Amino acid sequence: MTNESILQATQTYLMANYGRIPLVTARASGATVWDATGKQYLDLFAGFGAGGLGHCHPKVVAAIGKAAGEMMAVGNLYTWESQVRLAEAIIRHSFPGKVFYCHSGAEANEAAIKLARRAGGEGRYKIISFHKCFHGRTLGSLSVTATKAYQAGFEPMLPGNVCVPFGDLKAVENAIDDQTAGVIVEPIQGEGGVNVPTVEFMKGLRALCDRHKLTLICDEVWTAPARTGKWFAYQHYGIVPDVMTLAKAIGGGVPVAACVGREAFGDVLTPGTHGCTLGGNPVCAAAGAAVCQAIEEENLVDEARRKGERIVQAIKNAAIGRVKEIRGKGLMLGIELDAAPDQAKAVFNACLDAGVMINIAQGNVVRLAPPMVITDDELDQGLAVVIDAMKG
Ligand SMILES: *Cc1c(COP(=O)(O)O)cnc(C)c1O
Repeated sequence: MTNESILQATQTYLMANYGRIPLVTARASGATVWDATGKQYLDLFAGFGAGGLGHCHPKVVAAIGKAAGEMMAVGNLYTWESQVRLAEAIIRHSFPGKVFYCHSGAEANEAAIKLARRAGGEGRYKIISFHKCFHGRTLGSLSVTATKAYQAGFEPMLPGNVCVPFGDLKAVENAIDDQTAGVIVEPIQGEGGVNVPTVEFMKGLRALCDRHKLTLICDEVWTAPARTGKWFAYQHYGIVPDVMTLAKAIGGGVPVAACVGREAFGDVLTPGTHGCTLGGNPVCAAAGAAVCQAIEEENLVDEARRKGERIVQAIKNAAIGRVKEIRGKGLMLGIELDAAPDQAKAVFNACLDAGVMINIAQGNVVRLAPPMVITDDELDQGLAVVIDAMKG
């Protein structure tokens, strides 16, 4: 198909739910993406973080190829090696507990909300979440994503959920009643514009959940694995959640998601209470296990931290008047500009024209989340373009 015909057919056959850019992508490797005309782009956003390991990481490609040739789907009535290898790696790097597999962040959060309701017992169903959070688009996960723009036209939501200001412990405490089941929080907000909570806030949430016997859910869909300079971002705060959810980068580009329960929380979903036909299927689980292995072998936790510092330093050195604040940890960074949404859009367009992919959140936050395997040279080249564009 020609470029034009693909763009045309996209409009004809695909729902218009994404605000797509008319760019036909064709091939990708490491931190590089090529469009259908052969133009090369440096990817400083890694497909919404899903390309944490870079595009088509050879270890992931090999694992998928091998698994696809061996066994693709036999059903969760049985078990297989790759799904225990991935779970073992997740648990080894987090906390003693157990894993449930599905395919998307939204689905992982659905599982977490169901788990919190069951753990809470009869009558406890309310979940507390935070302003500017993002937990997914299914009705359950949307119900705790209290942004009007996302919910408009889809009401009513699940009842009882309360959304309070991010960082406001008093508001959390006031929102808790005897019907509250849990709290869901991103250890760094992604779609909300890369907002980093304080250690005191996260520790305070942990204490409130302990005191009121609530399930503390950390939504690590954007932040893990490794991207923030720790395997899991909750580890920056000296706390352990009861449940954490994973998706995006854990599959290295194929749909893998997980809901992980700590100790007794791992035993709440008993036979028949929840399921996902293709969850943890051999191809996806093998990809996830290869991702974890590559992170270990290639020291990507440290690389994410080091490269993140390199970016922050370069942007500080550039002393750009429009930069109000640089937020984030490791390779999950947000640069808030003193700019109107159309000016921020111009930064995005200037980068894309110059062959660099970035993202804009909340109208004025330039989000940078390169693949963790990006080389220092690539990073410097990409940053030069982004810095130029931000200068305007
Ligand atoms: C992207 C995201 C989700 C939703 O993940 P999907 O795979 O798109 O369903 C949930 N939570 C957070 C924090 C996310 O960034």
